[in-house]
Amino acid sequence: MQSLIERARPVRLVIFDVDGVLTDGRLSYSSHPDAPEKEQSKVFHVRDGLGLKLLMQAGVEIGIITARSSLAVARRMADLGVPHVHQGQHDKLATYQNLIERLGLSHEQVAYMGDDIIDLPVLRRVGFAATVADATAFMQSQCHWVSQQRGGQGAARELCEFILNAQGRWDETLAYYLR
Ligand SMILES: [Mg+2]
Repeated sequence: MQSLIERARPVRLVIFDVDGVLTDGRLSYSSHPDAPEKEQSKVFHVRDGLGLKLLMQAGVEIGIITARSSLAVARRMADLGVPHVHQGQHDKLATYQNLIERLGLSHEQVAYMGDDIIDLPVLRRVGFAATVADATAFMQSQCHWVSQQRGGQGAARELCEFILNAQGRWDETLAYYLR
């Protein structure tokens, strides 16, 4: 059986689900009738954001695929410079297949982090399937790797560091900050 490090080594693209992975999964609804889903606020973790940036600086592509759609996600991803932002995607598998085709990547070159059954079709195909500490036991059983941190609270950062370590890039990433 392939080790986790062997699985993480060829990864050139990391795709994140948003709700429950880059957030803690809670959705904030306003009672105001003029505040539709698009206007919902989201809470992101600053350390997850830096993790995404560090991976991109190491030459790994980053994308998100989410079934929901909000301006908050668009703004956060723009802030971080994430190039592949796919919102309102109810068929995540089709979006995933289009994306890897466009980038010329194979399943083995992709890691995906998701927290619920809607993510399974993609998780079952990628070379590195990841989920969060607070995902159900069933979801954890379907993935290669489970973070120690919960969704929205450092899980994504943990995955970024795991991949950088597996690819032997963590020391050079850190070197800049240890000057
Ligand atoms: Mg989710």
